[in-house]
Amino acid sequence: MKLEGKVVLVTGASSGIGEAIARHLADEGANVVLAARREEKLTDLAQSLNDQSNGKALVVKTDVTKKEDMENLVQQAKDTYGKVDMIINNAGVMLLSFMKNDEVDQWTQMVDVNINGVLHGVHAVLPDMLKQESGHIVNVSSVAGHEVFPSSSVYSATKYAVRALSMGLEKELSKTGVRVTNISPGAVESELTNHITDDEVLEMFKDRASSMKKLQAEDIARSVVYAVTQPDYVNVNEVVVRPMQK
Ligand code: NDP
Repeated sequence: MKLEGKVVLVTGASSGIGEAIARHLADEGANVVLAARREEKLTDLAQSLNDQSNGKALVVKTDVTKKEDMENLVQQAKDTYGKVDMIINNAGVMLLSFMKNDEVDQWTQMVDVNINGVLHGVHAVLPDMLKQESGHIVNVSSVAGHEVFPSSSVYSATKYAVRALSMGLEKELSKTGVRVTNISPGAVESELTNHITDDEVLEMFKDRASSMKKLQAEDIARSVVYAVTQPDYVNVNEVVVRPMQK
């Protein structure tokens, strides 16, 4: 149990990659604080972790676009466990669409969740981490934060932003004891694509579906465990995980 006694906030823990990260961290003995909007899903996960894993789980219903919700998340964690050691800024939405289709509300939603959500997470944890001279901020970007494809312009813009934030934070915090990791997954099986409404994008996805075996959420969770279980002097800054092509 490499994370016994550690307290870790996981945003977007109600499904997919966030859920898998929470499970893997709890298996390593961490106390995980599960954050997302779908409280029932979080409660089910918490019950399963409290029954079966080595760490404990706490549920805090959270909308990452709301600064006050993220502040409350940290407060609840501190009230229950006394401190916060790590945050996994994982919550995200991928509303792919072609720019010509002018889905301006979806653009705004991606900016709010994917960028402001991460900023709210940093805002909520950093003062305490600086005081305790230790901590770990893990931001989930994407390979779409390394390359842009048709329909990913806005999503990619948000994920490039997450990477830029990770890179800046890493440089600013390198002498403070606070470590920063940016994780960039390739295609992972999850609910992420369920919310896409652009018909042209959905068609494009159908054509591509057979050319690739997607990663599983657990494949990303293992890379998070790797990054956060290194010795104190090791700062794993960037992890990119892509599926093999068929
Ligand atoms: P899912 O759709 O399964 O999970 C997304 C999570 O984000 C859910 O738990 C959802 O919870 C949460 N979320 C969305 N909006 C909010 C909000 N406003 N406040 C709080 N939580 C929110 O997708 P994945 O697990 O695949 O995605 C997780 C991360 O991984 C995202 O950042 C995504 O961009 C990134 N990623 C995913 C890839 C993939 O192929 N799947 C590839 C590269 C990166 P709820 O709805 O309950 O609030």
